[in-house]
Amino acid sequence: MKMKFNRRKFIKSTTLISAGAIVMPLKNYAEMKKGILPKEGLKLSFEPYNLQLKHVFTLANSSRSTTPVMLTKIEFQGITGYGEASMPPYLGESQETAAKFLSELDLGQFSDPFRMDEILEYVDNSRLGNTAAKASIDIALHDLTGKIMGQPWHKIWGFSAESTPDTSFTIGIDTPEVVKQKVKEAAEFNILKVKLGRENDKEMIETIRSVSAAPLCVDVNQGWTDKKMALEMIFWLKEKGIEFVEQPLPKESIDDIAWLTQNSPLPIIADEAVQRLCDVQATLGIYSGINIKLMKCTGMREAHQMINLARANQMKVMIGCMTETSCAISAAAQLSPKVDWADLDGNLLISNDRFDGVKIANGKITLNNLPGIGIRPL
Ligand code: MG
Repeated sequence: MKMKFNRRKFIKSTTLISAGAIVMPLKNYAEMKKGILPKEGLKLSFEPYNLQLKHVFTLANSSRSTTPVMLTKIEFQGITGYGEASMPPYLGESQETAAKFLSELDLGQFSDPFRMDEILEYVDNSRLGNTAAKASIDIALHDLTGKIMGQPWHKIWGFSAESTPDTSFTIGIDTPEVVKQKVKEAAEFNILKVKLGRENDKEMIETIRSVSAAPLCVDVNQGWTDKKMALEMIFWLKEKGIEFVEQPLPKESIDDIAWLTQNSPLPIIADEAVQRLCDVQATLGIYSGINIKLMKCTGMREAHQMINLARANQMKVMIGCMTETSCAISAAAQLSPKVDWADLDGNLLISNDRFDGVKIANGKITLNNLPGIGIRPL
């Protein structure tokens, strides 16, 4: 008797929770499955968009002030899932390659968005490469299915929203005055990421330390070449309060990296050396951890698999990003409760975001309860 009462009460309360916009699509979906409504395919559309950067962004061997992206939508039964491909030029994709890739896909053949394995396998097999364009489909599909279920993905995966890490905020290479200014503007963040790999590495760190005692991590972007110099530098960095070092040497220098990891007092994280799930195995014993980015690994589904594989091998996990709108950042943030470090500041670096999404509060990633990937279009 007691169980019956509880069950009724449960059904009543879930009906109340799902009142409103979510009820109709779920009903439509159920009716479609029963054959009452005609089967309808997924409808994909896309739009090129250029992100304006607040500051010129300087890496070890390039600088730029815009990032081209492709914004995607997958519509189904009146619900829209949003996705995004971010394509910094040095990675080889462009709005042209993404448009070509996306226009060749036929998502209309799929009438059940929950068959994600099947859909994403079709997308992945349709062409080699194009990982950002593939991620834009994966993200839109997650947003869509999450909305149909009425739940955000971090909940669907069973993660605790309060376990999210702080996000680091990147300080690009610049003159000491500009660096000091950027560090002061970043006072809200509990960890800063510094791009190294030039002549003035120590000067960069000293400049930051002259205005901030915040924990730092460094990203060398393969900019160092000598393993002994790298190790000496890492010992110096440890003294300066640095937490870990990302991609210190060229990814091809596998033996040198393994030696460095073995002798380093700080964790060595693979970024350029790891793109997809199939690359994780090769980093075991070479690096201490991996940096996962949705744009490199084709999206949330594969990123989740990479986290599990790395964790099962006692590796550290970091989730990173490109310059992106709050769409792709919020998608990556859904996975953030399961990582050691997050570098999800890409949306904070642009002045023309198209979405309202996951926020940073006191430097920490703060997930919301919106279904899907947690965004609203602006
Ligand atoms: Mg990196």
